[in-house]
Amino acid sequence: MTIAFLGLGGNLGDPIAAMAEALRRLDMDARTEVLGVSLVYRTPPWGPVEQPAFLNACARVRTARSAPELLELCLATEAALHRHRLVRWGPRTIDLDILDFGGEEIHGEHLTLPHPRMAERAFVLVPLAEIAPDLDIAGASVRERLQALDRSGVEVALAGPDWWRGA
Ligand code: ATP
Ligand code: CA
Ligand code: CA
Repeated sequence: MTIAFLGLGGNLGDPIAAMAEALRRLDMDARTEVLGVSLVYRTPPWGPVEQPAFLNACARVRTARSAPELLELCLATEAALHRHRLVRWGPRTIDLDILDFGGEEIHGEHLTLPHPRMAERAFVLVPLAEIAPDLDIAGASVRERLQALDRSGVEVALAGPDWWRGA
Protein backbone atom coordinates (compact mmCIF):
# COMPACT_ATOMS: atom_id res chain seq x y z
CA MET A 1 0.00 0.00 0.00
CA THR A 2 1.24 3.46 -0.87
CA ILE A 3 0.10 6.88 0.30
CA ALA A 4 -0.16 9.21 -2.67
CA PHE A 5 -1.22 12.82 -3.09
CA LEU A 6 -3.30 13.98 -6.02
CA GLY A 7 -3.95 17.44 -7.39
CA LEU A 8 -7.40 18.12 -8.83
CA GLY A 9 -8.48 21.08 -10.90
CA GLY A 10 -10.88 22.33 -13.51
CA ASN A 11 -12.26 25.50 -15.03
CA LEU A 12 -15.02 24.49 -17.44
CA GLY A 13 -18.62 23.56 -16.64
CA ASP A 14 -19.06 22.77 -12.94
CA PRO A 15 -15.52 22.01 -11.70
CA ILE A 16 -16.57 21.33 -8.09
CA ALA A 17 -19.08 18.72 -9.25
CA ALA A 18 -16.45 17.22 -11.56
CA MET A 19 -13.81 17.04 -8.79
CA ALA A 20 -16.35 15.49 -6.40
CA GLU A 21 -17.35 12.90 -8.99
CA ALA A 22 -13.69 12.15 -9.73
CA LEU A 23 -12.95 11.59 -6.02
CA ARG A 24 -15.96 9.30 -5.63
CA ARG A 25 -14.82 7.28 -8.66
CA LEU A 26 -11.26 6.99 -7.30
CA ASP A 27 -12.67 5.89 -3.95
CA MET A 28 -14.82 3.26 -5.68
CA ASP A 29 -11.74 1.66 -7.23
CA ALA A 30 -11.21 -1.66 -5.41
CA ARG A 31 -7.51 -0.91 -4.83
CA THR A 32 -7.77 2.78 -3.91
CA GLU A 33 -9.22 4.67 -0.95
CA VAL A 34 -9.56 8.44 -0.57
CA LEU A 35 -8.31 9.24 2.95
CA GLY A 36 -8.61 13.02 3.02
CA VAL A 37 -9.46 15.97 0.83
CA SER A 38 -8.59 19.67 1.13
CA LEU A 39 -11.03 22.54 0.82
CA VAL A 40 -11.65 23.86 -2.69
CA TYR A 41 -9.64 26.91 -3.75
CA ARG A 42 -10.28 29.38 -6.54
CA THR A 43 -7.17 30.44 -8.36
CA PRO A 44 -6.48 32.88 -11.18
CA PRO A 45 -6.00 31.27 -14.58
CA TRP A 46 -2.44 30.16 -15.17
CA GLY A 47 -0.41 29.82 -18.34
CA PRO A 48 -0.45 31.28 -21.83
CA VAL A 49 -4.13 30.70 -22.67
CA GLU A 50 -6.91 33.18 -21.77
CA GLN A 51 -9.53 31.21 -19.81
CA PRO A 52 -11.84 31.20 -16.73
CA ALA A 53 -10.51 30.97 -13.16
CA PHE A 54 -9.58 27.52 -11.90
CA LEU A 55 -10.90 25.59 -8.94
CA ASN A 56 -8.34 23.35 -7.26
CA ALA A 57 -8.09 20.83 -4.45
CA CYS A 58 -5.76 18.07 -3.25
CA ALA A 59 -6.44 14.58 -1.95
CA ARG A 60 -4.56 11.97 0.06
CA VAL A 61 -5.19 8.44 -1.16
CA ARG A 62 -4.04 4.98 -0.13
CA THR A 63 -3.61 2.58 -3.01
CA ALA A 64 -2.45 -0.93 -3.81
CA ARG A 65 -1.79 0.23 -7.36
CA SER A 66 1.67 0.99 -8.69
CA ALA A 67 2.34 4.58 -9.77
CA PRO A 68 1.70 3.82 -13.48
CA GLU A 69 -1.48 1.99 -12.50
CA LEU A 70 -2.64 4.98 -10.46
CA LEU A 71 -1.93 7.29 -13.44
CA GLU A 72 -3.99 4.94 -15.59
CA LEU A 73 -6.88 5.26 -13.13
CA CYS A 74 -6.55 9.06 -13.13
CA LEU A 75 -6.52 9.27 -16.92
CA ALA A 76 -9.48 6.89 -17.20
CA THR A 77 -11.37 9.00 -14.65
CA GLU A 78 -10.63 12.17 -16.61
CA ALA A 79 -11.89 10.47 -19.76
CA ALA A 80 -15.04 9.26 -18.01
CA LEU A 81 -15.73 12.86 -17.01
CA HIS A 82 -15.42 13.92 -20.63
CA ARG A 83 -12.16 15.73 -20.47
CA HIS A 84 -10.97 16.56 -23.96
CA ARG A 85 -7.37 17.56 -24.55
CA LEU A 86 -7.42 20.60 -26.81
CA VAL A 87 -4.49 22.88 -26.01
CA ARG A 88 -1.83 22.19 -23.42
CA TRP A 89 -2.50 24.15 -20.21
CA GLY A 90 -5.84 25.24 -21.72
CA PRO A 91 -9.31 25.11 -20.14
CA ARG A 92 -10.56 21.71 -18.98
CA THR A 93 -13.44 20.11 -17.12
CA ILE A 94 -11.13 18.06 -14.88
CA ASP A 95 -7.41 17.55 -14.36
CA LEU A 96 -6.04 14.83 -12.09
CA ASP A 97 -2.29 14.92 -11.42
CA ILE A 98 -0.23 12.63 -9.22
CA LEU A 99 1.79 15.01 -7.06
CA ASP A 100 3.64 12.46 -4.94
CA PHE A 101 3.59 8.66 -4.77
CA GLY A 102 5.16 7.56 -1.49
CA GLY A 103 8.21 9.66 -2.30
CA GLU A 104 9.02 7.57 -5.39
CA GLU A 105 11.13 9.24 -8.05
CA ILE A 106 10.19 8.39 -11.61
CA HIS A 107 11.38 10.04 -14.79
CA GLY A 108 9.43 8.25 -17.49
CA GLU A 109 8.01 9.23 -20.81
CA HIS A 110 4.45 9.16 -19.45
CA LEU A 111 5.01 9.73 -15.73
CA THR A 112 7.28 12.02 -13.73
CA LEU A 113 7.26 11.90 -9.92
CA PRO A 114 7.12 13.94 -7.84
CA HIS A 115 5.14 16.17 -10.19
CA PRO A 116 7.84 18.40 -11.72
CA ARG A 117 5.92 21.68 -11.70
CA MET A 118 4.19 21.50 -8.32
CA ALA A 119 6.87 23.39 -6.34
CA GLU A 120 6.26 26.58 -8.32
CA ARG A 121 2.44 26.45 -8.17
CA ALA A 122 0.63 28.09 -5.26
CA PHE A 123 -2.64 26.59 -6.50
CA VAL A 124 -1.15 23.15 -5.78
CA LEU A 125 0.81 23.89 -2.61
CA VAL A 126 -1.94 25.84 -0.80
CA PRO A 127 -4.42 22.91 -0.77
CA LEU A 128 -1.57 20.39 -0.31
CA ALA A 129 -0.24 22.30 2.72
CA GLU A 130 -3.68 21.96 4.26
CA ILE A 131 -3.56 18.13 4.24
CA ALA A 132 0.21 17.45 4.20
CA PRO A 133 2.30 20.42 5.42
CA ASP A 134 5.25 18.22 6.39
CA LEU A 135 5.34 16.11 3.23
CA ASP A 136 8.85 16.17 1.83
CA ILE A 137 9.08 17.09 -1.84
CA ALA A 138 12.63 16.60 -3.10
CA GLY A 139 14.29 17.85 0.06
CA ALA A 140 11.93 20.54 1.35
CA SER A 141 8.56 20.34 3.07
CA VAL A 142 5.39 21.54 1.39
CA ARG A 143 5.14 24.26 4.05
CA GLU A 144 8.67 25.50 3.30
CA ARG A 145 8.09 25.44 -0.44
CA LEU A 146 4.85 27.38 -0.06
CA GLN A 147 6.61 30.09 1.95
CA ALA A 148 8.76 30.81 -1.12
CA LEU A 149 5.71 31.42 -3.34
CA ASP A 150 3.28 34.27 -3.93
CA ARG A 151 -0.04 32.79 -2.83
CA SER A 152 -2.12 35.90 -3.48
CA GLY A 153 -5.27 35.21 -5.48
CA VAL A 154 -5.63 31.67 -4.12
CA GLU A 155 -8.83 31.91 -2.06
CA VAL A 156 -11.12 29.39 -0.40
CA ALA A 157 -14.08 28.79 -2.71
CA LEU A 158 -15.85 25.99 -0.82
CA ALA A 159 -15.23 25.39 2.85
CA GLY A 160 -17.66 22.59 3.70
CA PRO A 161 -16.06 19.49 5.15
CA ASP A 162 -16.50 16.36 3.00
CA TRP A 163 -17.79 18.51 0.14
CA TRP A 164 -16.98 15.72 -2.28
CA ARG A 165 -18.92 12.88 -0.68
CA GLY A 166 -22.32 13.96 -1.98
CA ALA A 167 -25.31 11.66 -2.13
P1 ATP B 1 0.96 19.85 -15.99
O1 ATP B 1 1.56 18.46 -16.02
O2 ATP B 1 1.96 20.94 -16.21
O3 ATP B 1 0.12 20.08 -14.77
P2 ATP B 1 -1.39 19.22 -17.54
O4 ATP B 1 -1.88 18.62 -16.28
O5 ATP B 1 -2.26 20.22 -18.22
O6 ATP B 1 0.04 19.91 -17.29
P3 ATP B 1 -2.04 16.98 -19.11
O7 ATP B 1 -2.43 17.28 -20.51
O8 ATP B 1 -3.15 16.77 -18.10
O9 ATP B 1 -1.03 18.09 -18.59
O10 ATP B 1 -1.15 15.66 -19.02
C1 ATP B 1 -0.29 15.25 -20.04
C2 ATP B 1 0.43 13.98 -19.61
O11 ATP B 1 1.29 14.21 -18.50
C3 ATP B 1 -0.43 12.84 -19.11
O12 ATP B 1 -1.03 12.12 -20.16
C4 ATP B 1 0.59 11.98 -18.34
O13 ATP B 1 1.07 10.91 -19.13
C5 ATP B 1 1.75 12.94 -18.11
N1 ATP B 1 2.24 12.99 -16.73
C6 ATP B 1 3.56 12.94 -16.39
N2 ATP B 1 3.72 12.99 -15.07
C7 ATP B 1 2.47 13.07 -14.53
C8 ATP B 1 2.00 13.14 -13.17
N3 ATP B 1 2.84 13.15 -12.12
N4 ATP B 1 0.65 13.21 -12.98
C9 ATP B 1 -0.19 13.21 -14.05
N5 ATP B 1 0.20 13.13 -15.35
C10 ATP B 1 1.53 13.07 -15.58
CA1 CA C 1 -1.95 19.63 -14.18
CA1 CA D 1 -2.70 16.50 -15.83
